[in-house]
Amino acid sequence: MSGALSNADARRPHILIIYTGGTIGMIESAETGALEPFDFDHLIDNVPKIKMLDYDIENFQFETPLDSSTMTPDHWVEIAKVIDDNYNLFDGFVVLHGTDTMAYTASALSFMLQNLRKPVVITGSQLPIGEVRTDGEENLITALQVAAARDVDGSPMVQEVAILFENYLWRGNRSTKHSSDNFNAFKSSNYPRLAKIGLGISYRKEALWRTIGDVPLIAQYGLDTNVMYLDLFPGITEKVVRHQLSAPGLKGVVMKTFGAGNGPTTGWFIDAVKEAVDRGVVIVNVSQCDNGMVNPTRYQTGTALNRAGVISGHDLTSEAAITKLMFLFGQGLTAEEVKTGMEQPIAGEMD
Ligand code: ASP
Repeated sequence: MSGALSNADARRPHILIIYTGGTIGMIESAETGALEPFDFDHLIDNVPKIKMLDYDIENFQFETPLDSSTMTPDHWVEIAKVIDDNYNLFDGFVVLHGTDTMAYTASALSFMLQNLRKPVVITGSQLPIGEVRTDGEENLITALQVAAARDVDGSPMVQEVAILFENYLWRGNRSTKHSSDNFNAFKSSNYPRLAKIGLGISYRKEALWRTIGDVPLIAQYGLDTNVMYLDLFPGITEKVVRHQLSAPGLKGVVMKTFGAGNGPTTGWFIDAVKEAVDRGVVIVNVSQCDNGMVNPTRYQTGTALNRAGVISGHDLTSEAAITKLMFLFGQGLTAEEVKTGMEQPIAGEMD
């Protein structure tokens, strides 16, 4: 981190920016012309307006800034540790991150940072901050304002992991990147926005997460990566399904199903699924539709999966479902305990 925390004026918001990389801080490679992550000083030099906020801002940067497509759960742990170590020193945290896997990081952090009562606002941009039409400057400034925002009683307005992008603030574990082009790159199809960014920032207070009870932040770092997606499509073969479900060490599967949670009822398919469940693999049913929820008893095609032991992922995003599996297995829980845990919300990720 740069310098010691100043507490000269306690009324000024103290915000920690955690720079992990992403387009927001990238520059074009002189050799290939491709965008590559660059350092934090370059980024911050391009946002002189930050000074107008009159906040105490400190920063922490990854030793090597990353394109978020190269992120791993070890990087989520690094971010969570920085937040945990500095939790009492700052009013809020802004994480600068690539958009590609932002929804995964947001979901994972929401599970790892239990009893969070301060804002963790993740943002990035579609155009690098050095470009004339960049969306990065506005996103960074607004993220800082959200991280500093207070409710009427003086408590932080946002007390959860959220994604700020262009016109909206979304719950992190409800978000999905839906556009590689649009400045409004994220959406949350099953949960309302937390705030609308226009002339002002208008919060939807009833949608904001609040931790119940006077409990301290507990950061949980265990994550088990023995999980995978099984994405169904008409014509998927027995060979492929059996091969995937018998991956060595596999513990959890997010099965992306059709519509309200439906899949083939062919004998070999149901048998392959049931055999995996009987071997102790937890299979969670998440819909390929981004809006609506899995209703395993609505159609016979869903009931068959249900009977084979597949559990419902309700209205979870696939990003939240896979990171939740990693998180629950990472706590050393048994398959039965993970099944129970998957059906219960941890941080407002499902209804
Ligand atoms: N590939 C970039 C990343 O995720 C894309 C972005 O930041 O928008 O790091």
